[in-house]
Amino acid sequence: MKYTAEEIRAALENNELVVYYQPLYLTMTSRLKSAEALVRWIKPDGTLVPPSEFIPVAEESDLIMDIDWYVTRQVCRTLEKQNMMPQFPISVNFSRRHLHEKDFTEKLSAIVDSFDLLHQLLEIEITESAMVEEESRFYEWIVSIRNAGFSVAIDDFGSGLSSLQFIKDVPADVLKIDKSLLSHNCEDEKERIVLESIFTFAHRLRMKTVAEGVETKEQLAFLRTCDCNKIQGYIFARPMPEKEYLSLCQSHQVAEEPKDILEIQSPTSAVNLLMDAIFRRYPLIIFSNLTRNTFHAMTHEDFTVKNCPSAGTYDDLIRQGTESMHPDDRERFAALFNRENLLREYAAGTREVRIVTRQKGDDGIYRNTETADYFVKSKYSDDIITIALAQNLED
Ligand code: C2E
Ligand code: CA
Ligand code: CA
Repeated sequence: MKYTAEEIRAALENNELVVYYQPLYLTMTSRLKSAEALVRWIKPDGTLVPPSEFIPVAEESDLIMDIDWYVTRQVCRTLEKQNMMPQFPISVNFSRRHLHEKDFTEKLSAIVDSFDLLHQLLEIEITESAMVEEESRFYEWIVSIRNAGFSVAIDDFGSGLSSLQFIKDVPADVLKIDKSLLSHNCEDEKERIVLESIFTFAHRLRMKTVAEGVETKEQLAFLRTCDCNKIQGYIFARPMPEKEYLSLCQSHQVAEEPKDILEIQSPTSAVNLLMDAIFRRYPLIIFSNLTRNTFHAMTHEDFTVKNCPSAGTYDDLIRQGTESMHPDDRERFAALFNRENLLREYAAGTREVRIVTRQKGDDGIYRNTETADYFVKSKYSDDIITIALAQNLED
């Protein structure tokens, strides 16, 4: 059934548009995390009209803008009802037409402030298609919304002509991966590769990710091996009326038992835990490619090594490392760790080398430091690689 703009406007004015909420869950723990507001038209006789039957018509004129602001106010009312219980952020869909709306961010802030709500409780969903013509204006729009403290999600990523160039430049907080990228049980190898790369890219660019339209346990199992933050889909919950959503939020808070992370861990989260343990012991880890004379240092997030750049040539690294140690130890260290020597050791079948030297700390005091180099093999290359683990023996 197709409706006219006049019929839809009348429905809006008669309060026949009703906001449903679909919960979003954390991928790894299945805990409720947030929700998306999705509008429905409920006619006086009780018929429920899905958005696909009126949103496209509303999108043809500014009517869609009135609907979106109406939904925003309804969402604020819902959040207001939760003021005595924990509130979960709610995302609201905004049509690309708002790109040209004057004072968009001021209007959004004024509405949310009139309910005395924290801005971080609202997330703005915008589809990538809004960018089509005016890239710079689109980016400015997103930045202004974020500067006001709201978060911004890019909706339906992958449904059109999305590109990695787009993810690289878009200043958004969240990327919602469209359900069209997920097949029934993610059995296709190429599809899995594409999805894995999108999640990895997004995370390296510090964006959170949501997989939409997750219906099967096979899809969920696969997503748990990816770096995907949240799941939205029928496997957990369908969009529901406000009343049901409010009671879900309440029961989730009370009844939720923390899950055993080991039972549900993905390879990625296992590696993250392992890295935590390794960094506890070795605050500095250096990957070196002896064949190519390069290195890359990894440090724990809040551990800064003033004297060690994070990448460069291996020979410079050894030269600099030598300078920061006790003069009596320098020759021995340089003789062992120079590239030619390590390559000789490797050829002779050595699997690790280690040395204890005295390193000068920021306080000017020398402390015994052990450096162990392990020869490792990458399955992608024949280059000779070492991993150096350095630890202070007097901690
Ligand atoms: P969307 O923003 O991509 O919303 C997600 C849609 O996917 C929703 O459809 C939701 O019910 C559906 N969905 C969620 N999980 C699953 C799943 O596991 N399987 C399947 N097959 N579908 C799932 P819905 O509610 O019919 O909304 C359709 C579209 O209408 C939305 O797509 C959005 O583009 C638009 N829309 C809804 N409410 C608003 C609104 O307030 N303003 C604007 N501008 N657009 C809205
Ligand atoms: Ca959406
Ligand atoms: Ca979507």
